[in-house]
Amino acid sequence: MTAPRIRVRFAPSPTGELHVGNARTALLNWLYARHCGGIFVLRIEDTDRIRTTKAFEENLLADLRWLGIDWDEGPGKGGAFGPYHQTERLALYDECLQRLIAEDRVYPCYCSEAELEAERADLVARRMMPRYLGKCSRLGEAERNRLAAEGRRPVWRFRVEEGPIAFQDLIRGPMTFQGEAIGDFIIVRSNGMPAYNFAVVADDHCMQISHVIRGEDHLSNTAAQVLLYRALGFAPPVFAHHALVLGKDHTKLSKRHGSVSVREFRRRGILPEVLLNTLALLGSASDGGREIVSPKELIAGFAIDRTGRGGAIFDEEKLLWLNGLYIRRYTAAALTDLLLPFVRQAGHDERTWERSRIEAVVAAVQDSLPTLEAIGGFLDLFTDDRFTLDPEAAALLGQEDAKKVLAALRGILAGLPAEEGAASEPLPEFRSLIRSIADQTSLKGKQLYLPIRAAVTGRLHGPELDRIFALLGSASLLKRVDNALAGR
Ligand code: GLU
Repeated sequence: MTAPRIRVRFAPSPTGELHVGNARTALLNWLYARHCGGIFVLRIEDTDRIRTTKAFEENLLADLRWLGIDWDEGPGKGGAFGPYHQTERLALYDECLQRLIAEDRVYPCYCSEAELEAERADLVARRMMPRYLGKCSRLGEAERNRLAAEGRRPVWRFRVEEGPIAFQDLIRGPMTFQGEAIGDFIIVRSNGMPAYNFAVVADDHCMQISHVIRGEDHLSNTAAQVLLYRALGFAPPVFAHHALVLGKDHTKLSKRHGSVSVREFRRRGILPEVLLNTLALLGSASDGGREIVSPKELIAGFAIDRTGRGGAIFDEEKLLWLNGLYIRRYTAAALTDLLLPFVRQAGHDERTWERSRIEAVVAAVQDSLPTLEAIGGFLDLFTDDRFTLDPEAAALLGQEDAKKVLAALRGILAGLPAEEGAASEPLPEFRSLIRSIADQTSLKGKQLYLPIRAAVTGRLHGPELDRIFALLGSASLLKRVDNALAGR
């Protein structure tokens, strides 16, 4: 007998940008499916008609693709278990609701928002768990008709019985909740839309999902879902609730910590393979301490119980460091291809920059690039009319020794033999140029290099000076030195 196929799903609600925590859930499901030779399903949970937008959905799909997470069934792909948008599956939820109504497992509840709020407040005041106490569960036919005649549109609530609700979690082991702590929960809203817990059970069952892998913030939902599986006579899937992504202060990763959406990292020029790698290895730093791991290796070495258990601390500084490491591994040509959108984003028209010149800049600055976005600042460095002087560099240029160095450099640049038709004169070899300034000024080391760097780049740190000289050429160098000497 062959084992049943592993089927997992990622079920996002497109009500905002894809949060890295959710991206990690997608990734863990995807890695699990690829590791086991299973199927990865993408299902769009779009029943919140107010907050869901098509644009969020399109961005979400684009962000998953950008990360390299592909799905076997879902939007744009189809599959035997579709449709893959919940709003196209309403007939299924209604069919399940009718069964629950027929078996008296649910009842219509007419309580208004204000009534519910008063009940909640009362329970909280009495230090009791806020939950629905079942007021409408005992209504007779006549009372229901009377409330309906008032124009109240009911929700459907599930009758939760007292007693333990137990399930086995693949990551967290045996879990137990108490029915009395849950209260009769809503499964269909007054607008006819299924509530999350209900739709997800109908879908996971009908899509033959074998493993539900999601964040541990869903644990109490799972207890409610287990009750629905039982009531509908469905066998529940295997559950695995992974630890959430935390900020460095060990609280749930949120905007307070900096960037949190995949899109933001993408805009800032984090490489997709770096974000993927980081999210996959969060919480499992023990993974041999290796920093560069290919998706293939991630898939081969994946173990859900190991990866999902640990507190997953998201460290943006480490991400940037790793990004730099990956950036350095590209050839200048391949990196230039990746950088072109960022060249445009920074307001540089790459058509006025020759490809070979961009590539030369890229080669010169590649080791100093933390993100792709940072290319903008470096291109500014090589664009005369974008030259700016930072305060540190300006202070240094005010010193007497700095002026001596620049005067000597100016002398060399101004005295270069003209070459016919060339915009710039060919520069002497960098080391001999520096030696001659050293001889003229009797200065060396930082006192020699820093004024030159400050004058030609406007900064005290940056790429190697010899490369900057070669890229700028004598005309531009002379202009910058003149400006520095003139205190401009
Ligand atoms: N739409 C739910 C969410 O985004 C899905 C949760 C689940 O995986 O069941 O949180």
